[in-house]
Amino acid sequence: MIVAVASGKGGTGKTTVCASLASVWERPAVAVDLDVEEPNLHLFLRPVVRWREAATLETPVADPARCTLCRKCTDLCQFKAVAVLGKRLAVFPEMCHGCGGCLAVCPEGALGVGSRELGSVEGGETRNGHYLAGRLRVGEAMSPPLQRAVKARLASILSRTGGDALLDCPPGVSCPAVNAVRDAHVILLVAEPTPFGIHDFTLALEAFAPLGKPMGVVINRAGHADSTLTRLCAEKGVPVLLEIPYDREIAREYASGGVLAAMNPRMAARFADLRDALPRLIKEAAHA
Ligand code: SF4
Ligand code: SF4
Repeated sequence: MIVAVASGKGGTGKTTVCASLASVWERPAVAVDLDVEEPNLHLFLRPVVRWREAATLETPVADPARCTLCRKCTDLCQFKAVAVLGKRLAVFPEMCHGCGGCLAVCPEGALGVGSRELGSVEGGETRNGHYLAGRLRVGEAMSPPLQRAVKARLASILSRTGGDALLDCPPGVSCPAVNAVRDAHVILLVAEPTPFGIHDFTLALEAFAPLGKPMGVVINRAGHADSTLTRLCAEKGVPVLLEIPYDREIAREYASGGVLAAMNPRMAARFADLRDALPRLIKEAAHA
């Protein structure tokens, strides 16, 4: 089972929910940080990192001696990463998405394979499972190709262990967030019961609904006064699986980088209930 922990916006407690789930998970599991622009799952899980390797993207390199300036490649590239400038073909590797289309279409074999460093992928162990994360190079704008490199590593670990994966996804609803949840069997949305939180939560529901995956909600910093978010979840048919109250002890735990599920037995039991609700949600969706 692959569980994606996502949120419509940053700062909702998505990472601490993911870390807490990882800490109460019973089967072998890989905790994965797919928030490659700002990975911080390691701050909660404190893994022992065993390996780290560079992740690169294949980008074209032009051979001016062979290029006839036919523009087949420039017509094809929708990202304007290749262009004919005067009497010269120019390649802009930073804009390249690595689709390989230009290499395939060039009739002269005038494009070779170069590479651009995206960042790194690292892996290791947590107290009770595997750990995997991507870290985007400073100045690199494209996170989906690095997420793909992390996912490829994840697939190889899962094929060996047969276990589960808990994905800490990027906040928001843009391409990296949708890309991160795409392979999940269930999406857990962490939301806050504030007007801004509810607005971003609604955007997240709209962005992820077309994927057709079962979704559940964790309401973080829940208070007794405002039930708008709970009502909205009921209207949209998305079950609230856990409410984390807004209190000082929990806020202190956050601030110190603590894992909520490890705070006390009551909190551990609530996250264990959340863990147990996820396969039920998948099963119910399959029979709906
Ligand atoms: S590999 Fe794809 S994105 Fe990159 S320059 Fe070629 S066509 Fe454009
Ligand atoms: S398709 Fe090949 S020959 Fe044509 S402009 Fe591009 S690199 Fe040059």
